[in-house]
Amino acid sequence: MTAKHPSFCQRQHGTRFPLTSFSDLGLSPKVLTAVTEAGYSEPTPIQEGAIPHALTRRDVCGIAQTGTGKTASFVLPMLTLLERGRARARMPRTLILEPTRELAAQVAENFDKYGKNHKLNVALLIGGVSFDEQDRKIERGADVLICTPGRLLDHTERGKLLMTGVEILVIDEADRMLDMGFIPDIERIAKLIPFTRQTLFFSATMPPEIQKLADKFLQNPARIEVAPPSSTAATVEQKLVASKGKDYEKRETLRAIIDRQDDLKNAIIFCNRKKSVADVLRSLQRHEYPCGALHGDMDQHSRTTILQNFRDGKLPLLVASDVAARGLDIPDVSHVFNYDVPIHAEDYVHRIGRTGRAGRKGKSFTIATAKDAKFIDAIEKLIDRKIDWEDGNLSSIAPAEAGEKAEPRTRRTAKKQTAAPSPARQSEPKAVPAQDNRASKPETTADKKPAVSNRPANDDRKRSRRRDRDDDHTPVGFGDDIPAFMLIGAKN
Ligand code: ADP
Ligand code: MG
Repeated sequence: MTAKHPSFCQRQHGTRFPLTSFSDLGLSPKVLTAVTEAGYSEPTPIQEGAIPHALTRRDVCGIAQTGTGKTASFVLPMLTLLERGRARARMPRTLILEPTRELAAQVAENFDKYGKNHKLNVALLIGGVSFDEQDRKIERGADVLICTPGRLLDHTERGKLLMTGVEILVIDEADRMLDMGFIPDIERIAKLIPFTRQTLFFSATMPPEIQKLADKFLQNPARIEVAPPSSTAATVEQKLVASKGKDYEKRETLRAIIDRQDDLKNAIIFCNRKKSVADVLRSLQRHEYPCGALHGDMDQHSRTTILQNFRDGKLPLLVASDVAARGLDIPDVSHVFNYDVPIHAEDYVHRIGRTGRAGRKGKSFTIATAKDAKFIDAIEKLIDRKIDWEDGNLSSIAPAEAGEKAEPRTRRTAKKQTAAPSPARQSEPKAVPAQDNRASKPETTADKKPAVSNRPANDDRKRSRRRDRDDDHTPVGFGDDIPAFMLIGAKN
């Protein structure tokens, strides 16, 4: 059976590109066979636009929403181009930069899938795993290096990697690279690669800073822009839910929303900060919702396991920060819950893009407090529509009294728990992930300790703290329950 990508429908309406099949794009027979076996019936608009240019070795600037198949837009032509020539020891032929370890791992999976008829050496250089295996792959000669910027620089600084043979550089998820502060790293990396290289640049959004970056890295690029970055899919029902602003009140609101959903299959709960991810995870687990969390400080093994459990449906709720969830290939998410209104309006579009894919219906609920009015305005302006409120709007919630003393969270949330169990809880009572032993900690300890304390377990720790941060909007201080320093895992 062959699968149509959801953006295929978009193309039929927009008729930006003539109808094309994969075999019209100039890809090699080996690649075409793998694509057919992957079950894709036709290219997505970004693939259709980008692949022919990439195959002529032209620079490409591709802009298309999350989930529109940007990965294959560079993987397929790279596979075709790599069929000629061989890798030399310590001199990779191509380099792909990804902002997070998950995305890097997903790109590697794409090479496995589409490159199964090729004999290519693909090396994944990401933080949180040991250098030894990575060194061996580099030493053997890599056709493709897939890296997070920090780990790549670690390798080049160790002198074991020569970038002078790189023919193709891919900068993927450029807008997220910017958000994460990776641009200086990318500039350093780009300087190590010959000027004559081909550069393929992909982003979901194109704010002015990203345009500047593209101008700097690309030479006379073919620009392919598929959908306006500000659009959310029509298949997603979007709602705002007014809530009082204290953390425990927001968590109560969140549980109430989850409990109301009778069609909840799986959901991502987005928080603006790592600390909220930890708090929300701990609170939901305490209330026996089967959930896991994903954020930038987790070690690779925990991330992969959590993500796999989420994909398999073992953990139907995933609490995540924007960075950790960026571009992840998670098919068919029924709900998105925004525990926080995103500070950057574009993040709203990304978050909502996790649901309503493949023409399926999706739902999103955004918890809004009195402080969020201006962020909601910005989002509505960006997506060019009003989002409906569920039961009253911000004016219906009394502003929190200044100086009101919050009760200890644990007691309060436990007392206020509603009787109606959520569908998720019914289907999997106490399905706390086995690998996540923090969930079994008593409440008192859980209150003092981080719910998510996974730290990179090796020498990458310092660097990853700087480079993999996903709380760049973090207001500093003790505004919430736990001081930030308590969220840093115990040194081992
Ligand atoms: P992006 O990088 O734009 O966020 P991905 O490359 O991760 O998107 O692709 C999103 C999803 O679309 C993946 O599940 C991928 O397997 C699927 N996909 C990609 N290309 C096609 C295609 N031509 N037809 C059907 N599905 C596709
Ligand atoms: Mg992507």
